[in-house]
Amino acid sequence: MSETGLVVARFRRHVHVEGTDGERYLCRLQGRRLRPVAGDRVSWRRETDGSATVQAVLPRSSALKRIDARGRPETIAAHLSQLVIVLAHHPAPDWFLLDRYLAAGVLADLNNTIVFNKVDLTDTLPSALRLYETLGYPVLAVSAHEGTGLEPLQAAMAGERSVMIGQSGVGKSSLINVLMGDALQKVGALSEKALKGRHTTTTAVLHRLPVDGELIDSPGVRDYAPFIAHTREVQRGFRELCVRSPDCRFDNCSHLVEPGCAVRTAVTEGEISPLRYESFRRLYELTEAFQTRRG
Ligand code: GDP
Ligand code: ZN
Repeated sequence: MSETGLVVARFRRHVHVEGTDGERYLCRLQGRRLRPVAGDRVSWRRETDGSATVQAVLPRSSALKRIDARGRPETIAAHLSQLVIVLAHHPAPDWFLLDRYLAAGVLADLNNTIVFNKVDLTDTLPSALRLYETLGYPVLAVSAHEGTGLEPLQAAMAGERSVMIGQSGVGKSSLINVLMGDALQKVGALSEKALKGRHTTTTAVLHRLPVDGELIDSPGVRDYAPFIAHTREVQRGFRELCVRSPDCRFDNCSHLVEPGCAVRTAVTEGEISPLRYESFRRLYELTEAFQTRRG
């Protein structure tokens, strides 16, 4: 008999499924086309030999997708509610990358929270961050090393299923370590024991935070470009553009070349940041290039 369950870890050809009894089961995938990701709800079955099999992935209400090298979408995690974007002084923030993350979050209907880590090194935040606060994105200053600023971060993650993303070296693993504490050890030990002698490479793990909320850790999102199917969707990722675009002369204005473009006027008049506009333009061109490649 089939039961429903939650995918808490994905390995190459196996998943850990949490059943309705709260126990975790190591399941094989039935069929090559099944692609469950962390956060998915699945239908699974215990076999007579004691093993377990996932038979179907239930419909997803939300999913974070990245773009693979061939321009095609690859789902990383499902049923999310929040992106936690981590930045630090070192490596220096790449503001275009931040804008891509934010656009991905907005397009997937997720909350976006910006975390600025390593404040133990210097407590002055880059002035560019003020722009993001003005746009309505919370910015939380933390130090994974000293444990400062963790309470507001825990509060922001309470009741949410979050994915942490950010450039390599900003401190995501360190933050996950301090947020999880001892609970992290248990997850690691469980997976290793269950998968002894098999492929133990995890592609994503869903952690239950000791305070409240869930955090999906996926190495796959570390170097990230969002998947966007059509160039016309790109502007929705930039809320300040959406505010002005109804005033453009043409309904289908790309905001790149058309006369009577209210977005470009707002940039000239200093209402929209030229850097944010440049991020929009780059993401538009990237989306266009992949769209052409897919044909
Ligand atoms: P990840 O690549 O984003 O997972 O980053 P890591 O967690 O591996 O951290 C990268 C480097 O930054 C390591 O050398 C950490 O020790 C260091 N680091 C992480 N968090 C902090 C912090 O709060 N303060 C300082 N000074 N260094 C940190
Ligand atoms: Zn326009």
